Amino acid sequence: MKNSYPQSNDYSPGTWKGLKTSGGRKASFSCPLCGGLGTLSGHEIDPMGGVSPSVVCHNDRCSFHEHITLEGWETLTPIDPD
Ligand SMILES: [Zn+2]
Repeated sequence: MKNSYPQSNDYSPGTWKGLKTSGGRKASFSCPLCGGLGTLSGHEIDPMGGVSPSVVCHNDRCSFHEHITLEGWETLTPIDPD
């Protein structure tokens, strides 16, 4: 059972943001529990947005640890990081 999270460009908790890089598409993810922002650079993102391995919040005081799916990843139009 995967948990799906929507795309947002405002880094609100529980959303992801797509990034365009020289190596292709990447995503950042804002933890739904603490709002901490992390990149998914160490993860594989399949064409339908499934992220593997599971995502662990980088905040030592946060217990977030899930397998997640990025809603809308398959239709993402890359945008420049700001
Ligand atoms: Zn967290």
